[in-house]
Amino acid sequence: MKPARRIEPTEWMRADATRAVVDALTADGQEIRFVGGSVRDALLGGGNTTAHRDIDIATPHTPHQVIALLDNAGIKNIPTGLAHGTVTAVVDGRHFEITTLRIDVETHGRHADVAFTDDWQEDAARRDFTMNALSCTPEGDLYDPWDGIRDLEAGRVRFVGDAERRIEEDHLRLLRFFRFHAWYGKGAPDKDGLAACAAWAPSLAKLSGERIQREMLKLLAAPDPAAVIDIMAANGVLAELVPGVSDTATLRGLQSIETTADPVRRLAALMRSSGNAAAAAKVAEQWRLSNRDHERLAALLSPPANISDDLEWRGLRRELYAHGGERVIDWLMLAWAERAGDGETLRPMIEQARQWRPVTLPVKGTDALALGIPSGPEVGEMLEAVEHWWIAEDFAPTRDECLDKLRVVAASRGS
Ligand code: ATP
Ligand code: MG
Repeated sequence: MKPARRIEPTEWMRADATRAVVDALTADGQEIRFVGGSVRDALLGGGNTTAHRDIDIATPHTPHQVIALLDNAGIKNIPTGLAHGTVTAVVDGRHFEITTLRIDVETHGRHADVAFTDDWQEDAARRDFTMNALSCTPEGDLYDPWDGIRDLEAGRVRFVGDAERRIEEDHLRLLRFFRFHAWYGKGAPDKDGLAACAAWAPSLAKLSGERIQREMLKLLAAPDPAAVIDIMAANGVLAELVPGVSDTATLRGLQSIETTADPVRRLAALMRSSGNAAAAAKVAEQWRLSNRDHERLAALLSPPANISDDLEWRGLRRELYAHGGERVIDWLMLAWAERAGDGETLRPMIEQARQWRPVTLPVKGTDALALGIPSGPEVGEMLEAVEHWWIAEDFAPTRDECLDKLRVVAASRGS
C-alpha cells in the first residue's frame, strides 16, 4: 500500500524524546509508525493537544524485541501489557505506547486473544474507526487504508467494517464511538454506528470498570460532552452508565461558566438533578473510580444547604474553613450551573474562595497545659469551645484573644 499523502513532520515528531525512541526501535532497520491520537492531531493541526498525550507507536517487532531495543538504547521501559503486545517507553517524562502489529484471533466482547503479525494492513483492519486506522512514518508518510482522512475532516466517526460486528467483538467500542464523536464529530453521528450502539447498549454491563472509566472520563473532558450525552440518553446508552439522569441542563450550565474541563465535576453536574450518595456509590463501583474521585463525586451531589444565593461572606468563610477551597469552589460552580449559568451573584464568592488561604486556630494543646489545665480529654473539649467561638467571631481573634478565651473557658469549667 502506498502512502495517501505526505505531511510535514510535526514538532512532537521531531522532538528529542520522540527521536530517541524512534532511533532505538529502527536500529535494526525495521519500519515503525505513529498511530492514534497524535496522528489525528498532526492532521488537524492540534499540536497543543499532543503535548499532553501519550504517543502511540505501532511496530512489527515482538514485545520482547521492543524491550531489547529500548534496553540497548538505555531507554526506560515498562511491560504494560505484554499479552496484547504493549510496552511503554518513558523519555523525559513522556510516555510512548509501543504496540506490536496484531490481529484479534478470537474476540470475547471484553477481551481478545491476539496474534502478532508484521502486516500493516492486517493491523489497520483490527482498529476501531477509520480515523484511528491512520498511521504515519517518522518522515511524515501518512497511510490511510479506509478513507480516515476524509472522515476525520468531515467529522465522521465511522467503524472499520460492520459496526455491529465490531461492537460484538469488543463492547468498549460502543463507548469509544461516543468518545470520538465528542472530540471529532461534526453534526449527527454516523447512522449505522449509532444504531449498532443502541442495539448493543446492554452489553456495557459486561465491561470492566477500568475501561469504562477511561473512556467516560475522556468523553467528559471533550469540548461539549452534553451534546453527545443527550444522544447517548436518547439511544438507551446513558442509563447503562449513569442512573437516573433526567437532563443535561446543569451540565450545559457548567460548561458555559467553567474555565477548565474537569470530568468529575462535569459528571457531578450531570447527576445533580437526581443523584445522591447512593448514586455516586453505584457509579463509583461500576466505573471503578478512585477513592478520591468517589468521595468528591459524593460530596458534590450533597452540598451544604447554605451554598446558595443567600450565602454571605461569613458563611462562605465557614465553609472554606470546614471543607477547603477546592470543594467550596466546586459547590459554588455547580450551584451557579444549576441556574443554567444564570447565577452571576455567585461569581464574587468563587473569586473569594480562590483567594482564600487555610487558617488554623491560633492556640494549641500546649497552650492549655501552660495555663495549668491538666492533660486529658478536657483539653480537647476546651480547645473545641475556643474554636467554635473563634469561628463565630469570623476567625478574627488574635492569639492573645484566644488565650484569654481559653482562660475563661477553663475557669467556667472549674479547672
Ligand atoms: P487518545 O489520544 O485519547 O489516546 P487514541 O486514538 O490514541 O486516543 P488509544 O486508546 O490510545 O486511543 O488507542 C490507540 C489506538 O489503538 C486507537 O487509535 C485505535 O487505532 C486502537 N484501539 C484502541 N482501542 C481499541 C479498541 N477497543 N478496538 C479497536 N482499536 C482500538
Ligand atoms: Mg493514545
